[in-house]
Amino acid sequence: MAICIAISLLAALLLILLAVIAIRTALFRSKQLSVSAIASWPVDIAAAAQRLSGAIQVPTVSSLEESQVDYGQLTRFREYLSAAFPRVHSSLDKQVINKHGLLYTWKGSDPAMKPILLLAHQDVVPVTEEGWTHPPFSGAIADGHIWGRGTLDDKGSLMGTLEAVEYLLNDGFKPARSVYMALGFDEEVGGREGAGKIADFLKSQGLQFEYIIDEGGAAVLGLVPGLASWVALVGTAEKGYLSLELSAEAPGGHAAQPPRQTAIGMVATAVAKLQKQPFPARLAGPAAALFEYLGPEMPFPNKMIFANLWLFRSIVKGKLAANPVTDASIRTTTAPTMFRGSPQDNILPMLATAVINFRILREDTTATVIERVKSVIGDPRIKVTPIKKNIFEPSPASSTNGWSFEILSRTIRETLPGVLVAPTLVLGRTDCTYFTGLSPCCYRFVPQRIPGDEIASLHGINERISIDSYAEMINFYIRLMQNSCG
Ligand SMILES: [Zn+2]
Repeated sequence: MAICIAISLLAALLLILLAVIAIRTALFRSKQLSVSAIASWPVDIAAAAQRLSGAIQVPTVSSLEESQVDYGQLTRFREYLSAAFPRVHSSLDKQVINKHGLLYTWKGSDPAMKPILLLAHQDVVPVTEEGWTHPPFSGAIADGHIWGRGTLDDKGSLMGTLEAVEYLLNDGFKPARSVYMALGFDEEVGGREGAGKIADFLKSQGLQFEYIIDEGGAAVLGLVPGLASWVALVGTAEKGYLSLELSAEAPGGHAAQPPRQTAIGMVATAVAKLQKQPFPARLAGPAAALFEYLGPEMPFPNKMIFANLWLFRSIVKGKLAANPVTDASIRTTTAPTMFRGSPQDNILPMLATAVINFRILREDTTATVIERVKSVIGDPRIKVTPIKKNIFEPSPASSTNGWSFEILSRTIRETLPGVLVAPTLVLGRTDCTYFTGLSPCCYRFVPQRIPGDEIASLHGINERISIDSYAEMINFYIRLMQNSCG
């Protein structure tokens, strides 16, 4: 009898569980704005492609070594922009900040409206010459693409925005809301001199922006398992950045009579402990919001799983942890990157050092990371020193509820047909870091379509953008300014 009651109770509980899962799945509705694609503007895309090609041909390569930077190329680039966009340069206010930073202001007619700010950077990462189908600074136009360093990161976006402003000026558009454009010149090496100084200037003017848009996300295909659609990943937050040097000192001496553990051994043990005990996985913030936006678009059973994260959270976390890219979106990552010991093979090191790079989730801070590192290592012989040059706390997360995100989503859906919109966490860092105090709405998104197999060309070889994608990008920026400032 007791067994019968227990079985019936169990069956009833199971039914309730299944009912909850089914109801939650049924209520897990699409968050995509239902707007139709709009016709594109008659932009002369062949001429625009030529102008982007010209921009690629100016090698504005940044470098951590100041002496390696050819600042003359930035001057050339600035002159190139003036010649390529005559209306922009005769109608907008342009300020040069800290020698090469550029700040454009397109004054709106209604001073009561908060302005918007569009960011891009003029610099590119260095290249290795081998392996390119077309030379990296040729700006070749071939096979339906514009080729070269900077086409995706970030001159496509920079030029696309200016194309849109030039087009709108020629079309007689007068913004009610002011539009600012800020172009840094050292994003790839930290951004402090370019974006950093422009942000300081804007803060000194007491400005606040309705929203800010920078690079960081794009429209991707084939990156989200279970989804056959293009997905516009809009970065609503970015991870923090910290590098720690671990060091150990030892007496040194001849390698023929070593102690049981040399300074390298001590540091290596510390590194091994850190690798063995990664930071905890957390499915929260923008990483979780991504699935709120994409889950409803997925086929069964993925849809059911994401509708019921209360039940399946640990399974999902396990799946995400199995791939380094998705793993990085759910935890503070630990990456040992540099190791140094003795200068010669037969000398015991008097000093050994290792550098570990951490990319920090919002749930941690640089201080809690340092604290945890010291406790995991648990060895007073190891000195832990932050490398001061680039330390960034995780950014605040920008809202996906409200006018700004809606305008951005609407514009994406109007100008990139068939693309789903989802918030995401940006794993790297962008110039946007410097501007977060200037608006509660900082979004990291460039309206370019990057197929899965072309992602590696970012900072790699054969960087290129399809002419079709570039045309969409210009349309996006035109529409964004109409939607935001009309
Ligand atoms: Zn970039």
